[in-house]
Amino acid sequence: MKILVTGGAGFIGSHTCVVLLESGHEVTVIDNLCNSTAVALERVQELAGKPLRFIEGDVRDRNALDRAFAGGIDAVIHFAALKAVGESCGQPLRYFDNNIGGTISLMQAMEAHSANCLVFSSSATVYGQPDNVPVREDAPLRVTNPYGRTKLVMEQLIRDWCIARSEVSAVLLRYFNPVGAHPSGRIGEDPHGEPNNLMPYIAQVAAGRREYLRVFGNDYPTPDGTGVRDYLHVMDLAEAHAMALQYAAARSGCEVFNLGTGHGYSVLEMVAAFERASGRKVPFEVRSRRLGDIAELTADPSRARDLLGWVARNNLDAMCGDAWRWQKGISP
Ligand code: NAD
Ligand code: UDP
Repeated sequence: MKILVTGGAGFIGSHTCVVLLESGHEVTVIDNLCNSTAVALERVQELAGKPLRFIEGDVRDRNALDRAFAGGIDAVIHFAALKAVGESCGQPLRYFDNNIGGTISLMQAMEAHSANCLVFSSSATVYGQPDNVPVREDAPLRVTNPYGRTKLVMEQLIRDWCIARSEVSAVLLRYFNPVGAHPSGRIGEDPHGEPNNLMPYIAQVAAGRREYLRVFGNDYPTPDGTGVRDYLHVMDLAEAHAMALQYAAARSGCEVFNLGTGHGYSVLEMVAAFERASGRKVPFEVRSRRLGDIAELTADPSRARDLLGWVARNNLDAMCGDAWRWQKGISP
């Protein structure tokens, strides 16, 4: 298929592009590089041994989108979004404009160019604090911050679009906690400034770029008191996109899938696993809970297994080992 990948230079997008190229798809990326660099795309092509087409541009810019669609596009994977929860609380309008505005403009361009198949990056954040874990796709949706609200609104817009246009097919993928890197260590996650997420923070502490990890709370109702999440390897996530594309291409309508392993690890278990993988100490200090955090969030991934045939294959040691290989390569 000819696939347009928005946000393809980013963390999850770049890994997905490797998988798509290796599977024989033709890939066009549109990315404004607001949270990435073009170096990632050079490495993607190196790893896959195949070229891709890159349009540097914003998904809110219709001219840039028209250039991306020129030559024909069969399906779109839409990663492009701003994703920092804390930042979204301070700058909600920027998030609404970029994420929701960008998605509307993308759907308009898809209609204009008769591209009817969409795979969308959603997030487990749409569940807020769930009543039960592991959480299923039919659990109530209740977001707690503007970033989460953009994901919820985009899901709803895509659903409405699918109802209105019977030729359109969409798959909404709710990611839990993607971590790790390509096993080559050539591409990975390198957040600008101080990392918001646990794994890149731990990796920077292990590499000596930061002194210690702040553990946000050890008084949660979890076995060791620290927050529990469902971490999954970014390569497994990338594979899921290729499978979701096949699924969407064969059907119409809108489907939603959780993507996680179904297993939860606490912050302290993550620290221990990273120490094992890296052979480095990860000093930490316990601090108060982070505002808006929840005790535990894990996926019930059985729907993705049953309908997509997808199961996460990499374990925690692989996630940490690959993240460490990448981190070593980018640390001075
Ligand atoms: P990322 O920031 O590494 O990648 C996003 C890419 O989109 C970046 O390359 C950025 O430059 C680009 N971009 C942003 N706005 C754009 C715009 N208006 N026009 C063109 N390009 C634009 O983030 P990621 O971790 O790879 O996340 C990809 C998607 O997955 C996002 O939609 C994110 O919300 C979602 N998601 C991520 C996580 C996670 O923990 N990483 C969890 C759940 C959902
Ligand atoms: N966390 C932490 N220190 C950090 C970053 C995160 O203790 O510097 C904890 C956080 O409280 C949560 C877990 O690690 O329990 C995962 O946080 P992350 O931000 O990576 O994912 P999310 O909370 O969005 O699922």
